[in-house]
Amino acid sequence: MSNLQAEALDAADPLRPVRERFDLSPDLIYLDGNSLGPLPIGVSQAVQTTLDQDWQSGLVRSWNQADWIDLPERVGEQIAPLLGAAAGQVICCDSTSVNLFKVLAAAVHLIDGPATVLTETGNFPSDLYIADGLRQLMGSDRLTIRSVPGEQLFEALDRSVSILMLTHVNFRNGALHDLRAFTQRAASLGILTIWDLSHSTGIIDLELDDAGVDFAVGCGYKYLCGGPGAPGYVYVAHRHQKSARQPLSGWMGHAEPFAFSPEFTSAQGMKQFLTGTPAILSMVALSAALKIFDGIDLQAVRHKSRQLGDFWVSCMNEAHLPVRLASPSDASDRGAQVCYHHSEAYAVIQALADMQVLGDFRAPDVMRFGFHPLFTSFTDLAHAASRLTEVIQLESFKAERYQARKAVT
Ligand SMILES: *Cc1c(COP(=O)(O)O)cnc(C)c1O
Repeated sequence: MSNLQAEALDAADPLRPVRERFDLSPDLIYLDGNSLGPLPIGVSQAVQTTLDQDWQSGLVRSWNQADWIDLPERVGEQIAPLLGAAAGQVICCDSTSVNLFKVLAAAVHLIDGPATVLTETGNFPSDLYIADGLRQLMGSDRLTIRSVPGEQLFEALDRSVSILMLTHVNFRNGALHDLRAFTQRAASLGILTIWDLSHSTGIIDLELDDAGVDFAVGCGYKYLCGGPGAPGYVYVAHRHQKSARQPLSGWMGHAEPFAFSPEFTSAQGMKQFLTGTPAILSMVALSAALKIFDGIDLQAVRHKSRQLGDFWVSCMNEAHLPVRLASPSDASDRGAQVCYHHSEAYAVIQALADMQVLGDFRAPDVMRFGFHPLFTSFTDLAHAASRLTEVIQLESFKAERYQARKAVT
């Protein structure tokens, strides 16, 4: 039944040909594009050209000749349409954690006197660590971090809060916050918003400008497929760029880096959010990877992502497995992943990998399945569900070799 339904859904899928933009093994079902996106066609060639021509032969001249120096801005402009951002508000640099530190500090700087950040207890831990690190640096008189469970966030938004710092799609269960509703409520109370879009960009038709978001950051190696450790990005609304100041004031954020002045004079616009020398090889890879989105309608992507999630849930329901849905049941409340609790989640994910289905595990007991709409087919999901059923029903996950936890889960 599921196989026939899957074939019909695939036949009607306008994004089906886009899978050819990826260098994916046909034997593998990859349900972990939310952790590390696969290699897009064209990335190897782009990096190879940078190595052979720009580095090997061009050498230091390539900073000018290959325009390496402006790559952070150029890649930022490639990402901007995915965010619903007009030009001049996005720059590519550093990791999401580092970028969050920069924008959180910049937001605090915009507030006179003591600032209170409201965030979610279940936020990505790195975001909580970064906020706490900044609090320790600035002192608790200047900065307070208040974290509450997701369901209490909206009520907790009151005038005692100065900054709302949230992750749009939860990393562990895919739960999606209403970015527009939160942002508009925050704005009506004079609260600044910072969104972490790591699990949203590329799978959701974001409208940051229209929603009135103040700051955002996100990740380059998940749905954007920029490769392991690809740089992230920063969005700062035009209206804050004149007054915002970020504390990692390195030379690349200087108005004239090659004046080598002992005093720091901030660059204008998004360049002030740079710190040090950009990782050119990684940024070239991300830039080439972003071509997977050429001509793609993000509303169609979101539509397919919801259909994939619903289809997966229906396959799982049919299988009657001893698992419990960890994600919201309504596709409108989810990003592009659907997760389940299982007491042996880690071992099940390991056993499933041996059957050529890659998902991942998140402590303590969550099996995560991510569906990148640009390459995941409904048939992939039907096959993955039947292999998962086999692993659980035949208890192959109980084998000794699936028990020991590796360093990266
Ligand atoms: C993946 C992810 C990050 C990644 O941070 P890095 O600094 O690149 O390690 C940050 N925030 C969220 C919500 C994520 O899902």
